[in-house]
Amino acid sequence: MSERFAAGAGRPARSRAAVPDDLIQPFKIEGQAVRGRLVRLGPLINTVLDRHQYPPEVAELLGEMVALAAGLAGALKYEGVFTLQTKGDGPVRLMVADVTSEGDVRGYAQFDAEKLAAIIGAAGGAALSVPKLLGAGYLAFTVDQGSHTERYQGIVELTGATLADCIHHYFRQSEQLDSVVKVAAGRATGGWRAGALMLQRLPPAQGASDEVEDGWRRALAFMASSTQQELLDERLSPNELLYRLFHEDGVRVFAPSNLRAGCRCSRARVERVLRSLPAHEIESFKIDGLITVTCEFCNTRYPFTDSEVAALKDSDVA
Ligand SMILES: [Zn+2]
Repeated sequence: MSERFAAGAGRPARSRAAVPDDLIQPFKIEGQAVRGRLVRLGPLINTVLDRHQYPPEVAELLGEMVALAAGLAGALKYEGVFTLQTKGDGPVRLMVADVTSEGDVRGYAQFDAEKLAAIIGAAGGAALSVPKLLGAGYLAFTVDQGSHTERYQGIVELTGATLADCIHHYFRQSEQLDSVVKVAAGRATGGWRAGALMLQRLPPAQGASDEVEDGWRRALAFMASSTQQELLDERLSPNELLYRLFHEDGVRVFAPSNLRAGCRCSRARVERVLRSLPAHEIESFKIDGLITVTCEFCNTRYPFTDSEVAALKDSDVA
């Protein structure tokens, strides 16, 4: 299933219906060996970010992280979970975003509020780079397809001023030289939004030629012309944005993948974790007399009484 918006074929009609949101929109540039994906996240990313009291600097970075995870996941054929993770010695010590093949998306960040306030104060309103926020560390990609298959993992050092730069570093390290990404996250009138645009050059049918090279350069230039505002604009439909950017060559869109905010935590999973932990560690979860485990992704609380935990331990022995 595809729809073509070629040069001169007329732009996609601006419909009065709700603008499609929370999706990965795959596309291909007409006549060029270039394909891409546009990620638009609205209610989904607002849910993910609003569950926690993140300072705006952290929310924005995590918003970008989730949009990048969706864009990267959209390029893979997998059944299971794709995870993107950063770990560093800066104020934002950990960020995790994962996307299941069913389209459930979640993410969270761990940060040191004092360290963060210090660098925000020192920056005096200037934008904070990845080295300042995340520090030295790594970016990891994992594809988990269940216990019967091997986990794929790729790791690179955090290198670059932005998360997109770090992803480009990963592309270079893994010899995916013909992939580029652009990402944005920010607060709009309706809440948090995030967007990502990725382009990939396909191997040309008959070797490289000047025309192929030219087509790729044009696609990159069109992509570079997109603004943060366009990536985040909730009134601009994905197709309209793609048409605006690539209409000179024409763009063909394929069936989008819908995404939603979803978490895989459950009381049964928490019970399995509790069974595996030593008693003193479990005791440290105690809030007001109840052993309370909180899901870091979705903030759902799972309270247990002492006797419930004891019963878990007993059932383990049985
Ligand atoms: Zn959860």
